Amino acid sequence: MVYHTTVYQMMGTRMGLPLPSVNEVAAQLLVYSLMEDYLSYWIHRLLHTKWGYEKIHRVHHEFTAPTGFAMSYSHWAENLALSVPALVGPSIVPCHITTHWLWFTFRLIEGINIHSG
Ligand SMILES: [Zn+2]
Repeated sequence: MVYHTTVYQMMGTRMGLPLPSVNEVAAQLLVYSLMEDYLSYWIHRLLHTKWGYEKIHRVHHEFTAPTGFAMSYSHWAENLALSVPALVGPSIVPCHITTHWLWFTFRLIEGINIHSG
């Protein structure tokens, strides 16, 4: 059997039982949300510098009407850079895989929501 170390395992993500308590999940999601919001804000600020906007971020702002599709419509470098803040929290405060799924579900819903006007 070939064993591959996944990114989740490198981040210390638990995958077995017991499942995390509601309090643990709520605390982790709060920490992840604060870290993601802070880091995304500064990355977005950097993308609005002259170089960042002309080389990378202008693609994202081609959408002028509010629509959820604009969330992921961006330069590959922006997609890569803005995925980092969502991973910082779970890397610093490891969680259960189900919390990861919940976190990324919240992130997607929030991303669609904030681009929808
Ligand atoms: Zn922008």
